[in-house]
Amino acid sequence: MTDTLPGTTVGATAGVVGSTATTRPAPVAGAAGAAPAAGAAPAAGAAGAAGRAPLDPYALRSDFPILATQAHGRPLVYLDSAATSQKPRVVIEAVDTFYREYNANVHRGIYEIGERATAAYEGARASVARFINAPSAREIVFVRNATEAINLVAATWGRTTIGRGDVIVLTEMEHHANLVPWQLLVQEKDGDLEFIPITDDGLLRLDVFEVLLRLKPKLVAFTHVSNTLGTITPVAEITALAHAAGALVLVDGAQAVPHLPVDVQALGADFYAFSGHKMLGPTGSGALWARRELLEAMPPYMAGGEMIREVHLRRSEWNDVPWKFEAGTPDIAAAVGLGVAAEYLIGLGMDRVAAHERELVVYALETLRREVPGIILYGPPAGQRGGVIPFNLPDVHPHDVAQVLDRFGVAIRAGHHCTMPLHERLDLVATGRASFSVYSTREDVDALVAGLREAQRIFAG
Ligand code: PLP
Repeated sequence: MTDTLPGTTVGATAGVVGSTATTRPAPVAGAAGAAPAAGAAPAAGAAGAAGRAPLDPYALRSDFPILATQAHGRPLVYLDSAATSQKPRVVIEAVDTFYREYNANVHRGIYEIGERATAAYEGARASVARFINAPSAREIVFVRNATEAINLVAATWGRTTIGRGDVIVLTEMEHHANLVPWQLLVQEKDGDLEFIPITDDGLLRLDVFEVLLRLKPKLVAFTHVSNTLGTITPVAEITALAHAAGALVLVDGAQAVPHLPVDVQALGADFYAFSGHKMLGPTGSGALWARRELLEAMPPYMAGGEMIREVHLRRSEWNDVPWKFEAGTPDIAAAVGLGVAAEYLIGLGMDRVAAHERELVVYALETLRREVPGIILYGPPAGQRGGVIPFNLPDVHPHDVAQVLDRFGVAIRAGHHCTMPLHERLDLVATGRASFSVYSTREDVDALVAGLREAQRIFAG
């Protein structure tokens, strides 16, 4: 195999840090390591206030230490941010500082570091609430990830609401995390699942949805952004239709919060679930937002310490929300890191993040179509999708493609991406998937293109 990938830009020159420059710095492999960021403010590329210059991913990259590393002796080209994003230094340092300086349990210690830990944990909740414009931090429940958030709703609201013959409407393109919990629930309660079909391009068939609403579903649960096709769903429109039919709405926001401005009040949904690790936060962090009256009415999820106000031998009383849903010692460091990640993204401006990724998707679709003969690209047009590019090379299994790309330092995901029913619907065994984040650049796309051409050359021979 010959190494034909061009050098890619890794890190940013220190001179760009803190500037509003949008010009592309000369490629400087391994030149990251500029001054560490203070607080949660992005170190670079996010200067200025409203009406700011577009996001500068080249300047931002020095905030992410891992982007200065190598894979197989090549600069790491990380195109798997939909699986988990990389973390900026401020998040890494927030976790480190927690353990070094004020590691203590929360809501318990009447001593200085205990109070500091509690303040940081609850401060993180306020940051997450601000990030999604929740009306109150009391409506944010900390969980480990989107999967746990959805399971929480299924096991509490679902088990007390869904009965025999009740219908839950999902879509054909849900991640397993927003499918399997509902399968278990309807199996237990003898309810039914119905699915909004998709077009071949991965858009939801809202005409069929309107017919499904005649079944008077109790819940409509769907993804805000498809992790496989990138489809951005019309949440406010679906929510309005669902509410008019008497259903509640759960939105799986795992692939939306890292990439789009999310305002839960404007969207109007009832539950909004997401993971922290995809939005630059630590693994083990995530949140469920739900309307306060729903949280008040829902029974607890897990039981034990923290979630109680009073315990007697034969009965207990629950704590206030959201702590009623946070049994046991939480992942305090992860929650603190998530709060810092939320502030970091707020500092960048999610509208600028979305515009950056939109521009990159347009570039990627055009370049892949032009430069990689025969490539099959899936999903809706650029205007209707987030930073996800699913593809296949004819007659080459995506695992083989991913392996070749890996030799060039290019990390993509290959497989069914936890959407097996969607792959069945599209008659696919698997797909390759490149996905973007705030730090992704055109040079990352160029590296992908060069790797794919190399894969074609290898497998043709
Ligand atoms: N929903 C969507 C759309 C996802 O993409 C994912 C993860 O890829 C999840 C839910 C589950 O996220 P987690 O594994 O963090 O719980």
